[in-house]
Amino acid sequence: MTKSLDANWFTEVYDSHASAFSLKVTEKLLDVRSPYQHLEVYATETYGNLMVLDGCVMLTDRDNFLYHEMMAHPALFTHSDPKRVVIIGGGDCGTLREVLKHPGVEHVTQIDIDEEVTKAAKRFFPALTESNDDSRAELLFADGVKWVDEAEETSIDVMIIDSTDPVGPAEGLFKTDFLKRCHRILKEGGVIVQQSESPLYHSGSIIRDLRQGMQEAGFSSVATLPFPQPVYPSGWWSATLAGKECDVTRFREADASASDLAFDYYTADAHRGALVLPPFMRRLLD
Ligand code: SAM
Repeated sequence: MTKSLDANWFTEVYDSHASAFSLKVTEKLLDVRSPYQHLEVYATETYGNLMVLDGCVMLTDRDNFLYHEMMAHPALFTHSDPKRVVIIGGGDCGTLREVLKHPGVEHVTQIDIDEEVTKAAKRFFPALTESNDDSRAELLFADGVKWVDEAEETSIDVMIIDSTDPVGPAEGLFKTDFLKRCHRILKEGGVIVQQSESPLYHSGSIIRDLRQGMQEAGFSSVATLPFPQPVYPSGWWSATLAGKECDVTRFREADASASDLAFDYYTADAHRGALVLPPFMRRLLD
């Protein structure tokens, strides 16, 4: 059955893949042009609230747990004892909330370039910001590239690059030079994880380039973990991990299995399964 969409739909068009994703919206809740990007929030009929940056879907109430859990827990269960964590981007604070679930984490610094994103998250996605007042959390609003440049050498256990796509303000976060600087501030045994776009659309481009960049930056191991994400291009997304003298193809399976943290997607089994790449990805990545 063919049906045309009317004005009540938000649509993100993926020009490069001649496809699109739509959600039926009931109301526009926010429309702000910050110095960095165009931020919109909509109420939708079936996905709760929807955040959009520069026309690209960032998150919805309904399915953000997939992304936020997979950006946080694989890296934290790969590091042997994560205490100091840095999040670059992540202004909606969903990843921060997941990191703070780990009782061993002593300090998390989040650096997002755009305070408007965090303000909007507080108003329209309050569940994601519920841990912001945790005494271990420090929220800064600055360019992540500059912050990393100025950070102390070998001072961080886990870095989470929870950025927008590699265009506009986030472009520098995908460059090998930035990854080298991340390597410098990680302690030995440190782990970095970066959102790395769609396995279906980007295995032979962004994901492959990022993995090469991580290796060139000095990381000794790399692993890409795919996971479902219905509202992102192709409905499928990925997180790429790299280790500084740490094997990111292994993790603390017993700790993850025994964990009583509140997860909706992450499990030790899901982590182990995500480490086994489908053959088409292996072919494109090698
Ligand atoms: N889940 C999202 C996705 O993959 O589409 C990412 C969500 S999070 C909202 C992305 C954040 O990265 C935004 O809040 C944006 O302001 C931030 N960001 C982009 N470039 C940045 C930079 N250079 N430094 C710090 N934060 C940056």
